[in-house]
Amino acid sequence: MNWITIAWPMVAAACLTLGLIELRIALTRPVDRARLVFAASAFAAAAACGLELAMMRADGPIEFQALLNWFDVAAGVVIATLAGFVWLYFRCGNRWLAIAGPAIYFTAVLFDFLPGSSLGYLEMTGLQTVETFGGATYQVAVGVPNPLNALTYLGVLVLLVFVVHASLQLAQRGQRRRAAVIGGSVVVWVLGAGIHSALIEIGVLQTPYLVSLAYLIILLAMAYELTADVSAAAHLGRQLQESERRLDLASAAAGLGVWVWDLGTNAFWATAKAYALFGIPPAERLDQARLIDAVHPDDRDTLRHAVDSALANDRDFEVEYRLQPVDGETRWIASRGRVERDGNGAPRLLRGIAFDISLRRRSELQLQELQSQLAHTSRVSMLGQLASALTHELYQPLGAILRNAEAAELFLQHDPPDLGELRPILADIRADDQRARDVIERLRTLLKRRSMACHPLAIDDLCATTAALTRADAAARSIPLAIDIEPALPEAMGDRVHLQQVLLNLVLNAMDAVDQAHPAERRIILRARHRGEHEIEVSVADTGPGIAPEKLDAIFEPFFTTKVDGMGIGLAISRTIVEAHGGRLWAENDLPAGATFRLTLPTAGEAAPS
Ligand code: ADP
Repeated sequence: MNWITIAWPMVAAACLTLGLIELRIALTRPVDRARLVFAASAFAAAAACGLELAMMRADGPIEFQALLNWFDVAAGVVIATLAGFVWLYFRCGNRWLAIAGPAIYFTAVLFDFLPGSSLGYLEMTGLQTVETFGGATYQVAVGVPNPLNALTYLGVLVLLVFVVHASLQLAQRGQRRRAAVIGGSVVVWVLGAGIHSALIEIGVLQTPYLVSLAYLIILLAMAYELTADVSAAAHLGRQLQESERRLDLASAAAGLGVWVWDLGTNAFWATAKAYALFGIPPAERLDQARLIDAVHPDDRDTLRHAVDSALANDRDFEVEYRLQPVDGETRWIASRGRVERDGNGAPRLLRGIAFDISLRRRSELQLQELQSQLAHTSRVSMLGQLASALTHELYQPLGAILRNAEAAELFLQHDPPDLGELRPILADIRADDQRARDVIERLRTLLKRRSMACHPLAIDDLCATTAALTRADAAARSIPLAIDIEPALPEAMGDRVHLQQVLLNLVLNAMDAVDQAHPAERRIILRARHRGEHEIEVSVADTGPGIAPEKLDAIFEPFFTTKVDGMGIGLAISRTIVEAHGGRLWAENDLPAGATFRLTLPTAGEAAPS
C-alpha cells in the first residue's frame, strides 16, 4: 500500500459519487440533459482512473498496450461528454467545434483497434519500473512514439478552443461566475492533463498519467456549482414559503380560496380558505369526485360542463354553483380559473380561485322577486283601463254573434229552411267566437304572473294589438291613434306579454299627455322601423306638453310621477323589461311640442337573452 494505490481509487470514488449525485438530479422531471451528460463524463473519468492504476501495475508491455487502448477510449468519452456538457450547460458556443474535437480524437483512437497498429507507440520495447517519492513504484512504457498520436492532441486542442469560446460568450451574457468556474476548470484540465500526457509520450517525463487525477479540478468546480444551485434553491424555497404565506393571508382577507388541480394526478392543492369555502375538512384528500360531491346535485352538470369547455376551448374557466345545503342554508360559490398546458398543448393544470357569492345571489333573488311583484302590481293597476278596453272589444264580437244568431233563426222559420244561407252565418259565428276567446286569453295572459319567455314575434301584430286594446279609451277621449310600420320589418326577439305591457304603458301615458292638448292637435303615432342591421326601433310619439328637459331621465326612476293618481312605476318597469331583452328605452322631446318614447329590440336573427 502506497500513496498511488490510495490516491487513484479515491479520485475514482469521488468521480463515481458526484456522477451518481448528478445522475439523480438529472433524472428528476423534467430531465436535465446537461447534468445527465456530466454524470456520464464523471463515470468515464472514474473508468480512466481505474485504467491508469492498472497500467501502472501492468504485467508486461502487451497488457500495458491493451490497457492503454481502453484508456484512450475512456479519455475520449471524457472529452466528448465534456464538450456535450459545456454545450448544453452554457447554451452557447460553436456546435461544429463541439463536435469536431471529439470526432478528431476518436478517429485517432481507431488506430488502437486496427490489427498490428497502436496509436501511442510505433513499437513498445518494454516496461520500466520507476520509483517515485515515498518509495512508491509504477510502470512506464518504453518505445518509439507514434507521430499519429498528435491527432489526439489536435482533438483536445479543438475542445480547448470550443470551451474558451463558449466561456467567453457566456461571460458576455452576464454569467461570469459560471463561465469562470466551469469553463476555467475544463481549460485547466485540458491544458494540464494534455501537456502532461504529451510529455510522457515523447519521453520527456517519466510519471504516471494524471488525466484522471487532474479531473479532480472539474469535480471541484461542479461540486461548487452544485452547492451554489442548492443554496439558491434553498433561498428560493424560503422566498416561496414567504410568498405563499402572504398569498394565503391576502386571499383569506379578500375571502378568496385559491386552488390548483393537477389533471395528471387528479389531486387538488387548496388553501385553508378554499377548504373552508367548499365545506371540506382540510385533512381530507381533495379530488374532482370529492368536490363534485360537495356541489348541489342540480349544479353538478354546470360545473362539469364549465370545466370541460375550459379544457377543450382554451378559455378561462368561469362558473357559479351552489354547494350542498348545510343546516338548510345554501351557499353560492363563484370559481374562476385558467388552464395551464404542456409543450404539446395538452392541459396540465387548472389553477383558480373560489369565493362566496351567497350574499349577492340572495339580494339578486330578492330584487327579482321585488321586480316581479312590481310588474304584477303594475299590471293589476292597469286592470281598470284594460277592463274598459276589453269590454269594448268583447261587445263587438258578441254583438255580431247575437245578430248572426237572430238572422239564422229567421232563415230557420222559412219552409223549407234555407240551409245554404245558414252555412256562412255559422262560419261567421265561429269566427266571432274565436275573436272573443282571443280577447279573453289576452286579458288572462296579461294578468298572469310569469317570467320572460322570448320568441320571435311580429312587431306589426304587437302594435295592432296595443292599438286594439286602447282604441276604446282613445275614441272616448277623441285621440286619433295612428300606426306606421316600415314594410318587410323582420321579427323581433322578445316576450310578447311583457312587451305588450310596455307598449300599453307608453300609449296610455301618451294619452294622458295629449289630454292636455287642444282636441284638434291631439295625436299619437305608434311607429316601428329598422335601426341599424340588428335592431328594431319602436316609438310612441304624442303631441302632449313634452317632458321638462331635466326630467328626461328622472321619469324612469321608480315612483316618479306627476299625476295625482299615478304610481310612477310604469316607466321604471318598462325600462327593466326592455333592457332584459337586450334593448334600450328612452324619451325625447319633439318640436314644436310633444314627446317620443323610443325602445330598441334585437331582431330575431340576433342572439337574444333568454
Ligand atoms: P305614472 O304613469 O304612474 O305616473 P310612469 O312611470 O308611467 O308612472 O310615468 C312617470 C312620469 O313620466 C309620469 O308621471 C309623467 O310625468 C312622465 N311621462 C310619462 N309619459 C309621458 C309623456 N308621453 N309625456 C309627458 N310626460 C310623460
